[in-house]
Amino acid sequence: MANKTWDAIVVGGSAAGLSAAQMLGRSRRKVLVVDSGSPRNRFAAHMHGILGQDGTPPGDLVAKGRRELEQYDVEIQEGNVTSVSDGGKVVTVTIDGEDSHDARALIVATGVTDNLPQVQGLAQRWGVTVLHCPYCHGWEVRDQKFGVLTTMPMSMHQAELVRQWSDDVTVFTAGAGQIDPGVEQRLLARGVKLVAEPVVEIVGDGEAISAVRTADGAEYDIEVVFTGGPMTPNDAFLAELNLDRTDTPVGNFLKVDEFGRTSHERIWAVGNVSNPMANVPLSMSAGTNGGAFANAILVAEDGQIAVEEGTA
Ligand SMILES: Cc1cc2nc3c(=O)[nH]c(=O)nc-3n(C[C@H](O)[C@H](O)[C@H](O)COP(=O)(O)OP(=O)(O)OC[C@H]3O[C@@H](n4cnc5c(N)ncnc54)[C@H](O)[C@@H]3O)c2cc1C
Repeated sequence: MANKTWDAIVVGGSAAGLSAAQMLGRSRRKVLVVDSGSPRNRFAAHMHGILGQDGTPPGDLVAKGRRELEQYDVEIQEGNVTSVSDGGKVVTVTIDGEDSHDARALIVATGVTDNLPQVQGLAQRWGVTVLHCPYCHGWEVRDQKFGVLTTMPMSMHQAELVRQWSDDVTVFTAGAGQIDPGVEQRLLARGVKLVAEPVVEIVGDGEAISAVRTADGAEYDIEVVFTGGPMTPNDAFLAELNLDRTDTPVGNFLKVDEFGRTSHERIWAVGNVSNPMANVPLSMSAGTNGGAFANAILVAEDGQIAVEEGTA
């Protein structure tokens, strides 16, 4: 693709990025979406908690979004953005280390990488019988035997939450650190079992789980494991810009304002890349918000340029 200046480049073509591209495209902006094709929820067969899309396979939503964008001045390119540099009135985006494009606005919607606990039998069941979000999949596994594999203090929040979907919950507490006595009291009062021994294996046939094995060799009757680790935002390609960041309980993230704008006036970060707690609807909403706001900033800039050129 020949180098040219775009009104906006969107990095990441999933829930957040396509929503931003839709707003910008509908605002008659010339937009390039660059996507490397690995949305976070690719491990799950169906999505839930999304009004009007309950049970939709994740790939179907992305495919439909891409089809909708065909009517606008939006191009979609497969690729991996490897760096971004500041050129003053534009930012320069490098794709796959060689292809450079300039943009007046940059929307970063590259999501996160989930750092899963290194436990035998866990990774291959991620998104099926090893889950992180009860709002996404809790209804489908309700009343089954839950195990919560803690990895950090935040895991105790997950432990309390999932009790809403099952009255058979065992929490493996080795990864949680010092447990707040109030939390422990509430869990025990609701019949939740606490196991301090570290987990070494998730046991079962295929994707099914029949037990969780601990270091002392004991096996606990479990059908579904809830867990989650720290997350790494997929934003390393922005490193040279030194954008402001903030610490959260699950990792260090780009700092953004209420419209998703980073500390750089031409760069927005929307969806999971700046909000680790965002599900699909929240990511879509952040993309919509960021895309519309980026257009508003470009409108203001267009006006200023017209004034300076005497062409208003
Ligand atoms: C197993 C699992 C199941 C889930 N189920 C649900 C559910 O049922 N309901 C729900 O609401 N939420 C669910 N979620 C959460 C959901 O996945 C996220 O909220 C959502 O994907 C965030 O959207 P996003 O657009 O911010 O990021 P993503 O969907 O992760 O998209 C980021 C995109 O950016 C691309 N990308 C990354 N880096 C680059 C780069 N350098 N250059 C170019 N492209 C890049 C990626 O390839 C990807 O396509 C689930 C999450 C997981 C892990």
